[in-house]
Amino acid sequence: LVLAPLGAARADSGAPYLDPDRPVRARVADLLGRMTLAEKIGQMTQGERAPLTTDTGAVTELGLGSVLSGGGSVPTPNTPQAWADMVDGFQKEALATRLKIPMIYGVDSVHGNGNLLGATIFPHNIGLGASRDPALVRQAAQVTAAETRATGVPWVFAPCLCVTRDSRWGRGYESFGETPELVTAMTTAIDGFQGTRTADLKQADRVLATAKHFAGDGDTVYGTGSGEYPIDQGVTRTSRARFAQIDLAPFVSAVKQRDVGSVMPSYSSVDWTDDGLGNPVKMHAHQELLTGWLKQKTGFDGFVISDYNAIDQLPGTFAEQVTASVNAGVDMFMEPSRYREFVTTLTAEVEAGRVKRSRIDDAVSRILTKKFELGLFENPYADRSGIADIGSAQHRAVARRAVAQSQVLLKNSGNLLPLKKNAKVYVAGRNADDIGNQAGGWTLTWQGFSGNENQQPGTTVLEGIREVAPKAEVTYSEDGTAPAAGSDVAVVVVGETPYAEGYGDVGGPEWPWDPADGGVPREEKSLALQPGDQATVDRVCAAVGKCVVLVVSGRPQVVSTSSGVDALVASWLPGTEGAGVADVLFGKRAFTGKLPVTWPATAAQEPINVGDKDYRPAYPYGYGLTTRTS
Ligand code: BGC
Repeated sequence: LVLAPLGAARADSGAPYLDPDRPVRARVADLLGRMTLAEKIGQMTQGERAPLTTDTGAVTELGLGSVLSGGGSVPTPNTPQAWADMVDGFQKEALATRLKIPMIYGVDSVHGNGNLLGATIFPHNIGLGASRDPALVRQAAQVTAAETRATGVPWVFAPCLCVTRDSRWGRGYESFGETPELVTAMTTAIDGFQGTRTADLKQADRVLATAKHFAGDGDTVYGTGSGEYPIDQGVTRTSRARFAQIDLAPFVSAVKQRDVGSVMPSYSSVDWTDDGLGNPVKMHAHQELLTGWLKQKTGFDGFVISDYNAIDQLPGTFAEQVTASVNAGVDMFMEPSRYREFVTTLTAEVEAGRVKRSRIDDAVSRILTKKFELGLFENPYADRSGIADIGSAQHRAVARRAVAQSQVLLKNSGNLLPLKKNAKVYVAGRNADDIGNQAGGWTLTWQGFSGNENQQPGTTVLEGIREVAPKAEVTYSEDGTAPAAGSDVAVVVVGETPYAEGYGDVGGPEWPWDPADGGVPREEKSLALQPGDQATVDRVCAAVGKCVVLVVSGRPQVVSTSSGVDALVASWLPGTEGAGVADVLFGKRAFTGKLPVTWPATAAQEPINVGDKDYRPAYPYGYGLTTRTS
């Protein structure tokens, strides 16, 4: 079913806000002047797909401004057409309101349109950071934008501009790296998503971007995280000057150079040393930073979208939480299932005078401005013309090149790499033939998946080796127990299994980590390879004379190389195009990646960052050997 555009302009012709020839500012002012308080508060509210699918009619009834799919919240079947039908269905509900204001749909798309089966999945940001190639990052974001907007979705919660300062953080892979300079260079992602001119937002292959998580999410102090997570969603303890230098710097670029459309505050808090510590303030209630710094000082003219249920973490009653965050400067609220309660509560708070109507008008104006700029009033429904290109050979070629450029060669004794294309290669390790593990978190489900059974297209590293070196004699044994005699070289692919947020890899599929399961949190395993992985490395490297170890992981791993590891590669989380790894292994492309984060000798060195006193890591920030092509 293709829904015919409702033709808002025809239905209510004459209203200035419906006239595309008027300047956006005039359209916003006209529309705002016609809106009731209820309609305004509806615009500030975002509900989630799953509850709204059951709560039929809520989008119309409340006039919801936005709907999101959280990680893994997908339609059935998970196809581009079903996505577009679903988004159009919500849009039809939004356009059935008195003023016919379109809703804006948002998804994460942090490394490709990760929720969508068949999408091109790029390396996570940590790998893109290793490429040191801002133009590549822009191109990857552009492909992602095209593969997202083709499904009817005009808004992504990406890029993450976190500066990761401690690799025990479970979201480090969402970061481009540990220095503000590197992360700032990669704000080109915003240009890839949005284009460089405001008019580009109307194009069928562009989306509104979100700079997240504002700010300091990667710079929290170990031991300050909530509940069982000692570092995620914790506290950044620092001076205003250092915070500006490290954590805010990428956001200056995002706002001033790239004109990012939205900003998402972080779950974390900041506690200023200037003020003597002891008063951590959650970013969602941080007026000094959200309104003072971001909007007033830096000139951000987009809208601030809260993180998922994040205001629940503020002190006080729900009413106090709502009021504190609106007054601090949050404009739209991601309230996946509490959207009704949010609307009622904010309405009462405005009526009681605790939230000024001028603040509501400011928030709504910001949201409407972006909707007008995206062309949603003229073209509210999905433009499906890009569906044929989702997962296309051309898009995958961009991702494959990104994979090759993300590989960091840490060790290469005797110039073992590149390998000869006719070598007898013994491939082993848990991550050698596993699309899910190489894609990591935020892929099809929030926490990601392991294995190849879900039919996510792409190539594993093993398949890539077979494709790039068809003349090689390849023997594969996942645990490295098949006979290895006669092999010239071993390629052992180990590392992490997928995770998202919190700790990170806990050595099992369960999340959240439950001590009752007997699991050991990843960080407390000292960033070491999981025991089974180290055993595979030791076994295979001892059996085969020459040995290459690839670490497929979201962060540095402490690898013991005593069993004779000749070459060591940080492969990060390459995504669906494992062939890009094979390209550098066999010299089709040279290794050029440089470490985006310090590779510590032990986890006890964390937090460890370039510029520290007594900096003695296993491999420093920026390290990376090169090879010749063959
Ligand atoms: C994450 C955000 C994400 C949001 C919506 C939250 O849990 O912190 O990064 O955009 O979920 O999926």
